[in-house]
Amino acid sequence: MIEDKNQQRTQLSDLGEFGLIDHLTKNFKIKQASTVKGIGDDAAVLNFKNKKIVVTTDLLVEGVHFDLTYVPLKHLGYKAVIVNLSDVFAMNATATQITVSIAVSNRFPLEALEALYAGIETAATIYNVDVVGGDTTSSNKGLLISITAIGTLEPNDEVYRNSAKPNDLLVVTGDLGAAYMGLQILEREKEVYKVNPNNQPDLEPYTYLIERQLKPEARQDIIKLLKDLKVKPSSMIDISDGLSSEIIHLCTQSQVGCDLYEEKIPLDPAVISSCEEFNIDSTTVALNGGEDYELLFTISQDDYPKIKANPNFTVIGYIKEKEAGLHLVTRADNRIPITAQGWKNFND
Ligand code: ADP
Ligand code: MG
Repeated sequence: MIEDKNQQRTQLSDLGEFGLIDHLTKNFKIKQASTVKGIGDDAAVLNFKNKKIVVTTDLLVEGVHFDLTYVPLKHLGYKAVIVNLSDVFAMNATATQITVSIAVSNRFPLEALEALYAGIETAATIYNVDVVGGDTTSSNKGLLISITAIGTLEPNDEVYRNSAKPNDLLVVTGDLGAAYMGLQILEREKEVYKVNPNNQPDLEPYTYLIERQLKPEARQDIIKLLKDLKVKPSSMIDISDGLSSEIIHLCTQSQVGCDLYEEKIPLDPAVISSCEEFNIDSTTVALNGGEDYELLFTISQDDYPKIKANPNFTVIGYIKEKEAGLHLVTRADNRIPITAQGWKNFND
């Protein structure tokens, strides 16, 4: 949050577009056998033999999807990669390449883009994907980042949103709501900082929440784990907009209903305590918070023994016939229709 006045500021115009691209991308190493030609020509060349390919893209806009007053650029670069890889994994695919396009205003020095690319490179290294191209242009105001991710599927591995069946179990990975509470903490600290810039906040109790917001991970591990357990989900989606919104997508596309049990929704203790502090309902946060990047999937009941002992998975409900509708079964045993809220980018 505190700007370092001594930081070096190299004007982007000093390098020119090609100098800038070269400077930012010169360290990228090719790791994937499928990358024949990476950065440097008019287009990348990839060779996937006979494999099916998944392609997904996301656009992040300053002021809409991120706020640079509390998001360090290195974290932003990392997260921009993660949100795309999460979509690849939600198809039950292996991520292999990304492209990175940026539009940047002249208020950013070279050092800011170096930090952004350090985060991109870290994510690409950890998740074993190659950066094979992109585009660089100027913007009149603010920063835009668009990342496209490419992945491969083994034969018959693809898992869609539209194939959940009545009686399937509804399963979620990890825990929910932490990224949203992390955002609440950061927003609160931003307000405190505006009033008193010398105030040094103690964010230690909120480490997990802030990390889930600023440095989320995509569940590559789960895709491998499901393969090891020989479980192929009947449907799958990643949780980017909040559990309720994703359940609605999955059930609508599959033409099914569901019962979701409030008491089963996995919450970290830090989410529960911060919800008490902010006086908000933790179930609402888990349902509508978003940005958890966990996976929501359905499995046949026959597969239940394979996942039940694994702490990565929580069965939170089951799929019903379409006519039954979509309901949250509360701790008090009331049945409440599930409605979407998700991120309200268009209403802000
Ligand atoms: P073109 O004029 O054909 O669009 P560019 O000069 O924009 O080519 O890009 C040159 C090379 O650098 C290409 O391989 C392109 O994919 C890559 N590239 C451009 N911008 C970026 C970026 N921001 N990140 C990664 N690679 C990039
Ligand atoms: Mg270009």
